[in-house]
Amino acid sequence: MLKRNEGFSKLTAGYLFPEVSKRRKEYVASHPEAKIISLGIGNTTEPLPEFISKAMSDYAIKLSTKEGYSGYGDDCGNPVLRRKIAEIFYKGVVDGDEVFVADGAKCDISRLQILFGRKVNIAVQDPSYPVYVDGSVIIGATGKNSPNGYKNITYMPCTAENNFFPDLSTVKKNSLIYFCSPNNPTGFASTKEQLKSLVDFANKNGCIIIFDAAYSEFIRDSSLPKSIFEIEGAKTCCIEVNSFSKPAGFTGVRLGWSVVPKDLKFADGSSVNKDWARVQTTLFNCASNIAQAGGLACLEKEGLDSMKSVIDYYLENAAILKETFEGDNFKTHNVEVYYTGKSPYLWIKFPGEKSWDVFDKILDKCNIVTTPGSGFGHSGESFIRISSFAHHEDVREACKRLKNLVL
Ligand SMILES: *Cc1c(COP(=O)(O)O)cnc(C)c1O
Repeated sequence: MLKRNEGFSKLTAGYLFPEVSKRRKEYVASHPEAKIISLGIGNTTEPLPEFISKAMSDYAIKLSTKEGYSGYGDDCGNPVLRRKIAEIFYKGVVDGDEVFVADGAKCDISRLQILFGRKVNIAVQDPSYPVYVDGSVIIGATGKNSPNGYKNITYMPCTAENNFFPDLSTVKKNSLIYFCSPNNPTGFASTKEQLKSLVDFANKNGCIIIFDAAYSEFIRDSSLPKSIFEIEGAKTCCIEVNSFSKPAGFTGVRLGWSVVPKDLKFADGSSVNKDWARVQTTLFNCASNIAQAGGLACLEKEGLDSMKSVIDYYLENAAILKETFEGDNFKTHNVEVYYTGKSPYLWIKFPGEKSWDVFDKILDKCNIVTTPGSGFGHSGESFIRISSFAHHEDVREACKRLKNLVL
């Protein structure tokens, strides 16, 4: 018999979100009358504007014509889409041939790990999006798991004490650093000065940063960088991943991209961009051409305007939720609410309590699904994450229940 890839046995428990759904299902099975509201998984809820869905259906229908049919496209993405992403999201700071279209940011994060292999030091923000660590564990880039986390991974705590920006001095030389801003789950967006210190650290210490900018479009404050490539020196140490999932509601359509600069080099001087193009050609045949037609529509003026208004919609939800969690019934228990207005998430601390206990309590008493903060790392213990990806009416109902919650 074949041996199982050892990485799988090293994974701690299940992936966070399947465990959340499992508890929800168990609860519903024993409380069939419960009207559950989900403020848990960061999944978009609002319908696509017709302008964008029509671009995709038109493209799909044309596939049945001789003129409109297309088979495999360019391995690295439609060249027009690549150029437009470079122009619109990066103001031409990067070139179209540094932009690689993907079926999403999560998928790219896992494929990017192929570039560095298993013998690599890894550093992650703690708490962080689970894929950085779990993907590394599956490919075998980590050592044994201990109560403090995996060997070979440097955890960089991001807590209220350091204003949610980590101390970089613990990161080993030549590390692969995963960095997410605005951060999932904390919601914090790093300043220009903070990102400059990150880039300077990486350039000085031979590190490469995988910068996850999935929530960049939630930044409305023009003094804050939306991309790592707004920082001088980033092109020699950074890869950025981003996606249409959150700003355009493409979580199910599947479309994202990575920016791999031509100036980025491995230790032997060879080009990371060239190897990444090789990965695309050899292991991946790019995103669906229908999804790419939708992406092009997102980048028209009408599409860009619709992205802005759907983000406004989610930010309005978040503002109402913030007010609710700042209510007296939470205050008397010293609950701390962190909400920056730069992400769809609220990061809420229940001092002295375990995240999963708070999760169970809110599920049981309010029939609301949240996400336990401990699932994002040790520094997430005692926190829960509340997502504002929901319909207004569900958020209003959730707030009514939460206002009456006796902790
Ligand atoms: C949602 C999310 C993504 C996006 O993943 P897709 O595969 O593009 O849907 C990436 N990074 C973070 C931190 C996210 O929360």
